[in-house]
Amino acid sequence: MNRLVHALPAAYAAGALYLAHLATVSQQHGSTTRTVGLGACSLLLALAIAHHAYSRDQTRQARTDLERASRPLTTAQDLTVADLLPVPCCEAWWTAAGGEHHCTRKDQTT
Ligand SMILES: [Zn+2]
Repeated sequence: MNRLVHALPAAYAAGALYLAHLATVSQQHGSTTRTVGLGACSLLLALAIAHHAYSRDQTRQARTDLERASRPLTTAQDLTVADLLPVPCCEAWWTAAGGEHHCTRKDQTT
């Protein structure tokens, strides 16, 4: 798949150049209709190269976002939050609702 992703723009560019060459030859032979048609097809292939690059960038961004979203929550911020969460130390902690209390260490919950 990666080879195709890299080879396709090169094939588009070769096709665009060949069509531009054919448009030039048609112009030299006085065929305006063919010159315009071949020139337009050459431009379409040039636009396909740009669209291919845009799609490739979008795919990379989506892949990066998906990978980031699927990671487990082990960032430094998560660890800090876990450290700051109050841990009940004794029965008096519950009656003080986690506030300051006289810690007796009786009936430890942890
Ligand atoms: Zn306590």
